[in-house]
Amino acid sequence: MTAQGSALRTVWDPAGPAGLPFGSNSMQHGTAVFEGIRCYATERGPAVFRLDDHLRRLLASARHLGVPHDYDLPRLRERVLAAARTAGPDGAYLRPVLYTPDGQLGVDLARFRFVLAVEVYATAGDTGTALPAGVRLTVSPWRRPAASSFPTQVKATGTYVVSALARTAAVAQGFDDAIQLDPVSGRVAEATVANVFLARDGRLLTPWLSDGLLAGITRDTVLVLARRLGIEVAEGPVEPADLRRAQEVFLTGTAAELVPATEVDGHRTDPRGPLFRAVAEAFRDTVRGRRFQDLGWLTHTSET
Ligand code: PMP
Repeated sequence: MTAQGSALRTVWDPAGPAGLPFGSNSMQHGTAVFEGIRCYATERGPAVFRLDDHLRRLLASARHLGVPHDYDLPRLRERVLAAARTAGPDGAYLRPVLYTPDGQLGVDLARFRFVLAVEVYATAGDTGTALPAGVRLTVSPWRRPAASSFPTQVKATGTYVVSALARTAAVAQGFDDAIQLDPVSGRVAEATVANVFLARDGRLLTPWLSDGLLAGITRDTVLVLARRLGIEVAEGPVEPADLRRAQEVFLTGTAAELVPATEVDGHRTDPRGPLFRAVAEAFRDTVRGRRFQDLGWLTHTSET
């Protein structure tokens, strides 16, 4: 086990330097793009969960920023699987990062070239972003960036300053995490590094994508699994007041997995509610290769 917040190792692409110059654009201006991906222990050995979905999102993030690079899906897949294999049989949390390896500043990103590094963490807990079970949530005064200011679907390092402000303020007030609102509609968008689901009267609800949230892969996983379990689930507008009417609230994210809340600003929610327990159990079984394998979501690291 490594210390919280530190990687086991970083696997640098031989195409770039092994390290990041202090003057790197990605370091100085937050222009790296990244993914967080889980590798789980299964009966057939370690397997990466929804690898291609994560890598497609990484490629889309790079495309949005307009930084040229030489990676396509097969090449990224090969490099991430090679990094996963260094982690051993118990699984890992992997963070592929496309960054600018030279020491140039400037904000015309077409002049740069992205190179890949993959950080390997023994567990998601080591990343320093994981949450305890039974989180206390507060609605943050810090809203998400408007979709007209920054493309919502881009996972760039710089936008995490927005999450960091909201999380830090929430923790300073004794909460574990913050719910952030869309700045234009004022509706619920997501938590700082996770999406949010509400349960009320036997139904699940999660904010729709037009309210400025990342299209989380775990969010999508929960939508699919809930439907398979016969649970009624919808994407739609979620008002802050809906949080006060919810019987269950839970967060979803690759690092966090599924985390139930015990309260939102003093309103108690059931961390062991029936809908949370049903989808959390299906999720646990699915990522470990015990259920719903027809979905094709696991890539075993021994493949290829
Ligand atoms: N929203 C934000 C802002 C995030 O950083 C994350 C973590 N990637 C999520 C939602 C959840 O996304 P995923 O389920 O794909 O990890």
